[in-house]
Amino acid sequence: MRKEEDLVRKRMEKAAKAKRKQELAAAALKRKQESIENKLRRKLAALEKTALGATATSDASKAGKSGKRSASICYLCRKKFKSEAMLLRHNAESALHKENLRKKAAAEAQTEHSN
Ligand SMILES: [Zn+2]
Repeated sequence: MRKEEDLVRKRMEKAAKAKRKQELAAAALKRKQESIENKLRRKLAALEKTALGATATSDASKAGKSGKRSASICYLCRKKFKSEAMLLRHNAESALHKENLRKKAAAEAQTEHSN
């Protein structure tokens, strides 16, 4: 009778120990997963930073391009136009532009002559 009780107690202790071991293992696994997740998160954050930096640079280069693209400017007449179409129309129809073209051509002819 007493031996049986002892056996049951021992068995329960063993089960409790096994359960504790399992919990420890689970906790260790969880810690490991968390550390991996943290590492991944840090890596991701770093990547995002790099990507943001890249975006910023590409934005800057885009701005530079659009700055160049505002070639809706007649450098000859130093006039700015709202659109390329208006610039083209100016090039084709503007009396001022034609006059400036003529002057420029004359000036170029002169410099060519003097060279
Ligand atoms: Zn012009």
